[in-house]
Amino acid sequence: MSHGEIIAPTGFHARPRYLRHMEKQPTQFADRAALVAHVKALSPLAGDDGVSDTRGGRAAAERLLAAIDPTAYGHSRNYLDGAVTRLSPYIRHAIVNLNEVRNRALEMGDGKALEKFIQELGWRDFWQRIYAQNPDWIWRDIEAYKTGFAPDDYADTLPPDIAAGETESAAMNHFIATLKTTGYLHNHARMYLAAYIVHWRRVTWQAGARFFLAHLLDGDPASNNLSFQWVASTFANKPYFFNLENLQKFAGMDAPCDYHTNKCFGGSYDDLAVKLFPHMEAL
Ligand SMILES: Cc1cc2nc3c(=O)[nH]c(=O)nc-3n(C[C@H](O)[C@H](O)[C@H](O)COP(=O)(O)OP(=O)(O)OC[C@H]3O[C@@H](n4cnc5c(N)ncnc54)[C@H](O)[C@@H]3O)c2cc1C
Repeated sequence: MSHGEIIAPTGFHARPRYLRHMEKQPTQFADRAALVAHVKALSPLAGDDGVSDTRGGRAAAERLLAAIDPTAYGHSRNYLDGAVTRLSPYIRHAIVNLNEVRNRALEMGDGKALEKFIQELGWRDFWQRIYAQNPDWIWRDIEAYKTGFAPDDYADTLPPDIAAGETESAAMNHFIATLKTTGYLHNHARMYLAAYIVHWRRVTWQAGARFFLAHLLDGDPASNNLSFQWVASTFANKPYFFNLENLQKFAGMDAPCDYHTNKCFGGSYDDLAVKLFPHMEAL
């Protein structure tokens, strides 16, 4: 036996299961159900949260690219029903690249109206560069928390009610179900859910980031983990948090945001800061 040779235990398939995905895979299937069955067989440890409706491939990406509206994006992007593109899975998996998206936007209007859209593309590029230059920042706190808490004050594992989407908040449960069944969340919903996990439940951003990465079709260590660190305040000057009024304004058209099923977000920012960060000096 040469060093490094892989030996299949007696009675097992000659090639270990974890290496089977490296075998040449079929590219044509009778229908989508056959494709889904094939992928499931390759991923026996994947959960059973259903299959996202998002279609892969260049044709689907081109349809979304043709439909972008960067001008409407500029004034509506923070609303959950705003003119966002849903291009992230295709960008993440290199079906389209950022230049192509930017060039498509530039064909559509004057620079000022496009500014916000192009800035957001810039965020993706920025996070990628930070990651490339500092690969060791991705799973460790870049700086101390500015919340008044020490790292040890945060739980390392995700509470089961968050994983199951059975928290005290109907809006968060809606976001969790959306994440698990579609593999996508609007940016603002990601911010709300990340802040809920880290600040309301006092769970490490790493546990939240792992949960997101397990479900997002665009799951990306740079954009995801560095955004989580921004929310947590380990890569920002202060923690990101929100109140019910903000949630209702930007997410009320998509998620159940009434007071009675989201009491934990009620109050002014000052009230919530005292409740969430009792040891922190005034913001
Ligand atoms: C906690 C958290 C986790 C995130 N995790 C990921 C992730 O794993 N993968 C990922 O691609 N993005 C992530 N983002 C960034 C952002 O939420 C998504 O890129 C965006 O929501 C994708 O939807 P869209 O394509 O409709 O975006 P649009 O709003 O239509 O934007 C167009 C493109 O610009 C880029 N972009 C827009 N906003 C951001 C942003 N804030 N940061 C970085 N790039 C941006 C994306 O490539 C996006 O596809 C995360 C943000 C937060 C707050």
